[in-house]
Amino acid sequence: MRAYIGLGSNLADPVQQVARALDELASIPQSQLVARSRLYRSAPLGPPDQPDYINAVAVIDTALAAKKLLHQLQQLESMHGRVRDGERWGPRTLDLDLLLYGDEISSDDELTLPHPGAHERIFVLAPLWAIAPAAVIPGKGRVVDLLEACQSQHIEVVDSSAPAR
Ligand code: ATP
Ligand code: CA
Ligand code: CA
Ligand code: CA
Repeated sequence: MRAYIGLGSNLADPVQQVARALDELASIPQSQLVARSRLYRSAPLGPPDQPDYINAVAVIDTALAAKKLLHQLQQLESMHGRVRDGERWGPRTLDLDLLLYGDEISSDDELTLPHPGAHERIFVLAPLWAIAPAAVIPGKGRVVDLLEACQSQHIEVVDSSAPAR
């Protein structure tokens, strides 16, 4: 199954957190890393009194069931020292969202597919479009059209040759 994973971090050297997590995704059992986007910088969703986010999207081919994959992602979040303190959209060292799992549409207490925010967030759609320009979000539409619709949100590519700020 082809799965798309959204990465985000805005704490404790976010560029390194995301770069490391991209490598770690390659080591998920029964899975192969197919593609990874560049790194992007975006303004935080939710509480504005937190640092900007670094985001990326990765594609993996996996033999794991969707929930098993989600649990692997949560394990990686914990390894990055993520603490869940209950505040929604608060700052975090690493967030790994399962954006798409094939063309599955489903929802229960633990897992909603596609990820409910994916179709309206530029920090998902821009990197996703860059590595999978023909991608479709099941039930929502083509990534290229969805991306067009959220052009008012700000995002920039991280220039790895520029000094960190
Ligand atoms: P958002 O989901 O709006 O991006 P968030 O990433 O900050 O917000 P979390 O606190 O990381 O939210 O996750 C809350 C819960 O979302 C998790 O416990 C997980 O079970 C659930 N969840 C449901 N669908 C998904 C999905 N597709 N990918 C990741 N987590 C999901
Ligand atoms: Ca918090
Ligand atoms: Ca998220
Ligand atoms: Ca999440």
